[in-house]
Amino acid sequence: MTEIIKTASEWKQLKKSDAHKEKKIGFVPTMGALHAGHSSLIEKCVKENDLSVVSIFVNPIQFNDPKDLLNYPRTFEKDFRMLEDLKVDFLFYPDYKEIYSDNFKYRVIENELSKILCGEYRPGHFDGVLTVVLKLLNIIRADRAYFGEKDYQQYKLIDGMCRAFFLDVEIIPCPTVREDDGLAMSSRNLLLKSEEREHAVKFSKLLQSNKLPQQIKAELENLGFKVDYIEEIDGRRFGAVHLGKVRLIDNVKI
Ligand code: AMP
Repeated sequence: MTEIIKTASEWKQLKKSDAHKEKKIGFVPTMGALHAGHSSLIEKCVKENDLSVVSIFVNPIQFNDPKDLLNYPRTFEKDFRMLEDLKVDFLFYPDYKEIYSDNFKYRVIENELSKILCGEYRPGHFDGVLTVVLKLLNIIRADRAYFGEKDYQQYKLIDGMCRAFFLDVEIIPCPTVREDDGLAMSSRNLLLKSEEREHAVKFSKLLQSNKLPQQIKAELENLGFKVDYIEEIDGRRFGAVHLGKVRLIDNVKI
């Protein structure tokens, strides 16, 4: 049985109870609409720790586009069944007021990596991500927290924040899980129309090809994608494109 916890104080009581106080805790933060990408992180978390906690919180602060927030898929019943099937011990499911009692007056700002790639095209996005992750890590106080390489820039920023602020948690990166045709799994894939879904695979194929970034960008634009960026940094190729109303990101090791 997965137990739902809605407040930080409830979790604090549980965590210090005799039943739990000595246990190793693993944590997977998510925004819900769970898929096999999420379940790979969750399975690892359940396997490597005595207690597993998954959070579902659609963080409004990290959406720079209000329409994107409004359209973000929400599939709570299905998500909860998945957590039960994966034998997750606790679901942390707070509301906005619980997380933002300060109304976002306090925030975490990073000045380098958060300004490039997605940060350049989504101003304020990573401030929102880092702020909510710091809050969640401070509430859950896990020994290990799991993040997907699908969002590689996010993982690096979170890892850097934890070291900068001496947080006592191990940040564990997990490989990107892909659909059979190679498209990186994402909650936003649910929003693609069927013809867009077929088209989307060309983004992952070109990103994984041995072509140069500017060639990839030009080919994607010819295919009708709106390209935010295709860039290579530190042995990785990163890309972000728009297909209809949906923004897709991906990255591969080169
Ligand atoms: P999200 O719900 O999109 O905020 O994602 C929650 C966590 O799952 C983040 O650490 C993501 O990087 C990770 N994640 C999402 N999609 C994938 C995927 N296809 N493969 C691996 N991890 C993923």
